[in-house]
Amino acid sequence: MTETTNLLDAMTRLIGKENMLSSIEDRICYACDGSKQRHIPDVVLRPQSTQHVSNILRYANTHVIPVYPRGAGSGLTGGAVPAQGGIVLDFTQMNQILEIVPEDLTATVEPGVVTQTLQNEVAKYNLFYPPDPASAAFSTIGGNVAECSGGITGLKYGVTRDYILTLEVVLADGSIIHTGRKTLKSVTGYDLTRLFVGSEGTLGVFTQITVKLLPLPEKIETLLIFFKTSEDAVKCANQVISNNLLPRTLEFIDKSSIDCIKGYKQEFQIPEGVSSILLIDIDGKEESVKTETALIEKIVNENHALNVVSAKNVKERDTLWEVRRAISPALYNIAPFKINEDICVPRSKILEILQRINDIHKRYPSLKVANFGHIGDGNIHVNIMYDEGNNQQLSAENMVEEILRNTVELGGTISGEHGIGNVKSKYLSFEVPPQELQIMKGIKYLLDPKGILNPGKIFLQ
Ligand SMILES: Cc1cc2nc3c(=O)[nH]c(=O)nc-3n(C[C@H](O)[C@H](O)[C@H](O)COP(=O)(O)OP(=O)(O)OC[C@H]3O[C@@H](n4cnc5c(N)ncnc54)[C@H](O)[C@@H]3O)c2cc1C
Repeated sequence: MTETTNLLDAMTRLIGKENMLSSIEDRICYACDGSKQRHIPDVVLRPQSTQHVSNILRYANTHVIPVYPRGAGSGLTGGAVPAQGGIVLDFTQMNQILEIVPEDLTATVEPGVVTQTLQNEVAKYNLFYPPDPASAAFSTIGGNVAECSGGITGLKYGVTRDYILTLEVVLADGSIIHTGRKTLKSVTGYDLTRLFVGSEGTLGVFTQITVKLLPLPEKIETLLIFFKTSEDAVKCANQVISNNLLPRTLEFIDKSSIDCIKGYKQEFQIPEGVSSILLIDIDGKEESVKTETALIEKIVNENHALNVVSAKNVKERDTLWEVRRAISPALYNIAPFKINEDICVPRSKILEILQRINDIHKRYPSLKVANFGHIGDGNIHVNIMYDEGNNQQLSAENMVEEILRNTVELGGTISGEHGIGNVKSKYLSFEVPPQELQIMKGIKYLLDPKGILNPGKIFLQ
């Protein structure tokens, strides 16, 4: 009997054949994520309960089989890719919202709940789950926690880690632990919850998550502001914040990105001569939104804006954001391949990093570059577009390396929200010094001594 047959037999006993996918057609569907790598797993398991997950991990640990937790597979750094074969743990069946407690401003969910589903369900109670990755319509809370996902609301509301109160975690040996409390405050011992958030499926597997909620803002105003240069847009964004204003979102779109979305929606017209756009949401109580919007409009007009458009209603607002979300896929109009970096620098260094990217780009004239993203957080998505042939892929990789080195030099980070996975592990040491790296590896060894959880990720082997 082969090892795979043994594995399938054991899993049939432990979680039932109906929760297992073993045909090659099914397994191919789980070979990739948003990073477009391809490694076919030996089996896909679809647990229905924490006990299922515990059974699977106990077996995998005993037999040293790699286990790859997976939500929607929308990660951009290869986190859910089964790089060494073995088991994919597909959490999409564990997708129940277990409770929403308006009095406590909390919700407890299974990891496979889609982010937007949670946002919509809590909104029925006039509550708000702020982390809002552009992938919210399909990514899962489990994946968001594992990546500590950010998104468009990070400036005002923070990122996923700021909303995670408790975790139920199945460890590599199958034991089940509970971290944190369903309270807003807790300083008892080390903060294990924060350790697991952003651990990219390498330290433990989440089976239940309690998130913190906020009251749903009464009003959202959306402004679209056109500029002649990127410099004007960045300076304006900095002015907004240095005037003590904290909009819900503060997004930046450069000329290359604008060119991709021109004509995407009939009702969305971009005037000639526009090289840069800021998209700003202001939220809160009706009166304060009105005041803040007026202040922002004043700052914008003092900062050489060509034009300001405000969304008149929810439909117009949705259209503006639909266009913003369309940028990423629309970039493939420029070239068939893309490397999407998610660098983050202190806000005061945004202009400098954009200038440095521009200078670096001059050394790689065959490549196309488009920058957009969460400028309010200092988080820019640098997209390097390339064609097959003429060593363009190698040039793109060299360009990435230069950008990441410059980012770290300016006090920034090589990943603001997408994580390291296996796509960026070769760059980890640019930012993390040897002693800190050893501490991280020590934590990994303590929790997963046989290295079965998501092997091949974060660290170079
Ligand atoms: C169009 C598009 C837009 C995006 N926009 C954003 C954005 O604005 N902000 C942002 O931060 N990201 C963004 N992303 C990246 C991606 O959507 C996020 O990283 C998201 O959190 C991944 O969720 P997922 O459910 O798809 O997880 P997957 O891709 O399936 O997995 C991601 C990681 O989580 C681990 N994991 C999954 N479930 C569990 C679990 N239950 N326990 C332990 N580990 C687990 C996996 O092993 C893997 O390491 C975008 C991606 C796309 C394709």
